[in-house]
Amino acid sequence: MSELLNFNYPPEPATDRVTLFADVILPLPLPKLYTYRIPFEMNDEVLVGARVIVQFGSKKVLSCIVADIHENAPADYQAKYVLDVLDDKPIVTAPQLKLFKWIADYYMCTLGEVINAALPSALKLSSESRIQLHPHYNPEEDELVLAAQEEKIIFALQNNQALTFSEVGNLLQLKSYHKFIKSLIQKEAIIIFEQVSDRFSPKVVKKVRLSEHFVQEEGMLEELFNQLAPQPKQLDVLLNYLQLVPVHQDIHLNYMGVDKAALTNNPHLSASSINTLIKKGVLEQFDKIVSRFPMDHGTQQLPMALSEHQLQAKDEILGLFKEKDTVLLHGVTGSGKTEVYIDLIKHALDSGGQVLYLLPEIALTAQIVTRLMKVFGDKLGVYHSKFSDNERAEVWQGILSGRFQVVVGVRSSVFLPFHDLSLVIIDEEHEASYKQYEPAPRYNARETGLMMAHLQGAKTLLGSATPSIESYYNCKTGRWGLVSMTKRFGEARLPDIELVDTRREQQRKNMHSHFSAKLLQDIEERLKRHEQVILFQNRRGYAPFISCDECSWIPKCKFCAVSLSYHKFNNELRCHYCGYHERMPHDCPACGATTLRSMGFGTEKVEDELKLLLPDAEVQRMDLDTTKKKNSYQQIISDFESGRTNVLVGTQMVTKGLDFENVSLVGILNADTIINFPDFRAHERAYQLFVQVSGRAGRKGKPGSVIIQTRDPLQPIFNKVRSNDYQTLYEHEIEERMRFGYPPFTRMIRVTVKHADDKIAENAAIVLAKDLTDRLGKQQVLGPEVPYIFKIRNLFLQEIHIKLPRDTTNLKAAKGQIAQAIFNLKLLSDFKGIRVVADVDPV
Ligand code: ADP
Ligand code: ZN
Ligand code: ZN
Repeated sequence: MSELLNFNYPPEPATDRVTLFADVILPLPLPKLYTYRIPFEMNDEVLVGARVIVQFGSKKVLSCIVADIHENAPADYQAKYVLDVLDDKPIVTAPQLKLFKWIADYYMCTLGEVINAALPSALKLSSESRIQLHPHYNPEEDELVLAAQEEKIIFALQNNQALTFSEVGNLLQLKSYHKFIKSLIQKEAIIIFEQVSDRFSPKVVKKVRLSEHFVQEEGMLEELFNQLAPQPKQLDVLLNYLQLVPVHQDIHLNYMGVDKAALTNNPHLSASSINTLIKKGVLEQFDKIVSRFPMDHGTQQLPMALSEHQLQAKDEILGLFKEKDTVLLHGVTGSGKTEVYIDLIKHALDSGGQVLYLLPEIALTAQIVTRLMKVFGDKLGVYHSKFSDNERAEVWQGILSGRFQVVVGVRSSVFLPFHDLSLVIIDEEHEASYKQYEPAPRYNARETGLMMAHLQGAKTLLGSATPSIESYYNCKTGRWGLVSMTKRFGEARLPDIELVDTRREQQRKNMHSHFSAKLLQDIEERLKRHEQVILFQNRRGYAPFISCDECSWIPKCKFCAVSLSYHKFNNELRCHYCGYHERMPHDCPACGATTLRSMGFGTEKVEDELKLLLPDAEVQRMDLDTTKKKNSYQQIISDFESGRTNVLVGTQMVTKGLDFENVSLVGILNADTIINFPDFRAHERAYQLFVQVSGRAGRKGKPGSVIIQTRDPLQPIFNKVRSNDYQTLYEHEIEERMRFGYPPFTRMIRVTVKHADDKIAENAAIVLAKDLTDRLGKQQVLGPEVPYIFKIRNLFLQEIHIKLPRDTTNLKAAKGQIAQAIFNLKLLSDFKGIRVVADVDPV
């Protein structure tokens, strides 16, 4: 009876029949999120923070991040279906999504732009993404259970190097093919890459070991010694091997052998003997595929024991962290801040949290990674733009899986998927390179790092020998804690600083091109003592411009309002703003004279001249031109560390945080271009640069000195640098900032208007400035004005500067007004093609 009754009732609606929608972040600069409908069968599979595949527009199929799941259909359009689910776990964590929203709001850009910058492209799939066979997978030998469609894909890949997603779609004649790709990835049969250049090639090292029977069989090793006795060179190789791999103590050690390079690089061993032993079958050569991130099992070391000053600083920091979330460590160059960080990182890891260690410059990561690797081994991940996309994806996944608990990286590391941070370290916090200019998001990794820590309840430690005025102000007003280290580590003292008046030296005929006699003589002296020298010049290339002696013609960029720099090594004139380049002309194109002359000088010229003036010096240059290749930083730094080179010439790159123990002289070739810069931060910047570059000298034991060449030695800044007088600098600067209403007393937003027609750019800027003045008030809006470099990449520029009060609620409202004004401007038909960029907190 009851059965009969029930029969007429409709079945209980199962929960999986609920109609769900997903708001997704597409990696595109779209003003809002789009809503897609989730097919019922995927209701349990779609997760916030995971990737799904959707169609956008009429053709494009791409992956995006789910930001929200709900039951509300979009009001103004028919939602398309989610096509496929890529992840069974989120790849973007909840605190990350919050941070991304903050970045988009604060820096006035779209969430899509943030996601696009954040995700390594290996995690951003589109119809153009490609797959290849996994390098470890051999379809002939490895027996995987594959679906028919999967087999089809593998078969096609065996015949083709790679397939795009759309090709896979065509191959299978299916719309929903992503699940097969996903399954093959999980089975480790294929991998994904975005560009042809990103194809995965495993890193192989050549290794050698003793042939097995010498180790396994009793007495064979002794016999080998007897055999080799008449060949002392071969015997040396064997002895050396046994020293590195003591198989007589533990025969299992032999299996891993040693890197062949460990033997071949040893200057005391003969390369041909090594090869003879391989031919004879005494040594056996084999290849080993290594991870791109070497796992340093078992070699972990304890951090260095902290000195009394360091211990005190550490205790003060931990003490302040009890009350404050943020502490600034103001420690002179060489005071040993890095070791304090290492100790604090260890402390944080021991209590189970994650740590992010931010650095402003890739050049710096090379040295610091070595120091951190020793202590943290395979818990340490490294993240920067010289890594291939696969490597970056590996770090991303490694943080999610818990493999990496501490990550050291540059600016973009603030995008990484941490979820349990307990400490963020922002080293060299004063550095302008923490700010991204182009493209959006124009974020500052210092502020973003602070917000990231705040969202995850972590502490932030900022460190610098020359703190930014803004950060120091935060300490003075009690928002942040302040800890100071005023002495260098150990016996080391701050270097002596000497000024050389180049104008006077010129009159006295004491200048050898750009080198004063004093500087040259000191370099020579240091090299004789087997010490090392760093020379700093603010510009790369050979000369910032060339000019014709006859008619004063100066070559300019076709697309930008700047002169072309001369690069001698490839005989090119090059624009440092857009990359345009042409061959250096032989005669003047204007008057035909052969009197083209290079004016001013860059690092390339310094290197060139020094090689002529001091032929015995081993000079190496570090600037943008010599560090294009992936490992070039590492190479230059390790050559200098090991003493293969003894003079390092470079741009800003050589000034930041590098630690070389044998550098006893630093030369600044031309201080004047650094001081005379039209910006309210010019003074602060110059101080930071001089102190930082000086700080590379005399870091261990040996006393160091600094020579600054200038035409104007009476500039007051030099006194502050010489006496390392940050306090006076700070007091002077903060008063000026207050008087003129600059940060930290206000917040600045720079709005740049760009158009190919200079009149249109100008008119649009006037209209925009007027609208902004109406919205924000007369005091708040400055400009428009034409910037010093008024044309870049064929677009004429106009700038409007907006100063806003610091409080957050008004700031939000003001940004809304600015966005609205820009939006309205773009609607005006007079200004078609106008581009407007808002840069929040420009530096
Ligand atoms: P900073 O970052 O403050 O400029 P570093 O951390 O690079 O200074 O330290 C300067 C030098 O002193 C480095 O060569 C470092 O190895 C050495 N040093 C610092 N602390 C210690 C320590 N506790 N024991 C041994 N050497 C140390
Ligand atoms: Zn000419
Ligand atoms: Zn250009």
